[in-house]
Amino acid sequence: MFISFEGIDFCGKSTQIKLLQKHFEDKKFEVRIIREPGGTEISEQIRTILLSKKNNLMTLETEILLFSSSRAQLVREKLRPYLDKGYYVISDRFHDSTTAYQGYGRGIPLETVKHIHEISIGNTIPELTFFIDIPVAEAERRMGLISSNELDRIEVSKKTFFEDVRKGYLEIARNEERFRVLNGLNSIEEIHEEILKEIDNYEKGK
Ligand code: ADP
Repeated sequence: MFISFEGIDFCGKSTQIKLLQKHFEDKKFEVRIIREPGGTEISEQIRTILLSKKNNLMTLETEILLFSSSRAQLVREKLRPYLDKGYYVISDRFHDSTTAYQGYGRGIPLETVKHIHEISIGNTIPELTFFIDIPVAEAERRMGLISSNELDRIEVSKKTFFEDVRKGYLEIARNEERFRVLNGLNSIEEIHEEILKEIDNYEKGK
C-alpha cells in the first residue's frame, strides 16, 4: 500500500508519519518511509541544491524540473521495487506537493505540471493521501518556535505564497477521491486515530 502525506510546512506530517510507521511495525508489516525531495543518493544531491538558501536565483522552471527529477529517480530506484515486494510505503510529500507549490503557489500552468508528473511518476500514484490542513498563521506560530537560520529556501517564502499553496491543496482535495483532509489543529493523538480509521475503511472497501 502506498500512502502520501501532504500539507504546508509545519502542519505535522513527520509527526504523523512516525506514529503511523510505529503502528504498522507493531503489526509486523514491512514499512518503508520515503521523504521528498530526496530518498536516494542522487535525489538527496538534488535536494541540497533545491533547499540551499544560496540558490535564490533559481527560476520556477528549474525548480519544478529539479523536484520532478528527484522524484523520478526515487520512484524507479526505491518506490516501485518496494511496492513490488508488497511493502507499506509512506511518503513525506509526493507529486501533489509539486502541484500545490509550483502549480498553485508559483503559478506554473496546471496542464504543464500534469505533463511533468506523467514523465516523473507515470502511474505510480498514492492510494491514499492525507492532507493535514492548518491555517498559515498556525504554521507561522510553529515556525516561530525554531531558529530562523534552520529554515530552508522554500520555508522562508512569503505568507501569501503559503496561502496560495494551502488553497491549492484544498482544490486538489476536491478533485481527487484519494484525498483525506484532516484538521491539523486537532491534537496529535486525534489526528493519528482519524488516520487509522481512514486506512481501515479504505482497506475494507478494497
Ligand atoms: P512537518 O513535517 O509537516 O513540517 P512536523 O511534524 O515536523 O511538521 O511538526 C511541526 C511542529 O508542529 C513540531 O514542533 C510538532 O511537534 C508540532 N505539531 C505537530 N502536530 C501538531 C498538532 N497536532 N498540534 C500542535 N502541534 C503539532
